[in-house]
Amino acid sequence: MSKERKVAIRFADKWFSLFIRARDKFCYTCGTRRNLECGHLFPRTFLGTRWHEAAAFAQCHNCNSLHESDTEPFYGKFINDNGLELFEYLQRLTRSPVLKTDHEIRYIGEKYKHRYEQLNRGNWNG
Ligand SMILES: [Zn+2]
Repeated sequence: MSKERKVAIRFADKWFSLFIRARDKFCYTCGTRRNLECGHLFPRTFLGTRWHEAAAFAQCHNCNSLHESDTEPFYGKFINDNGLELFEYLQRLTRSPVLKTDHEIRYIGEKYKHRYEQLNRGNWNG
């Protein structure tokens, strides 16, 4: 992987994570406000869902770590809240190969930087 690509991925991850945590404010699976991280429904190796808003939630460090060995609490709550159809749709995205250029990844970072700043200004309506 090129240095440019690594930098773009780090940039996109940083702003996507800040956006998701600012959006949710609480751990999706236990409700605490402490030690929040960006929890991915599916492993980050799948670029199709790595920066997908429907497949990421704020999670505390404990719940995020637990998800690596026990996916049931996160999957179960997600399916209960959003339905099996959306879950399976997102899961299919992980299986279809996604090619993203460095430029596209950089753009994702810019988009979430902007969205994060909007949230912090209190201008977010959505
Ligand atoms: Zn938690």
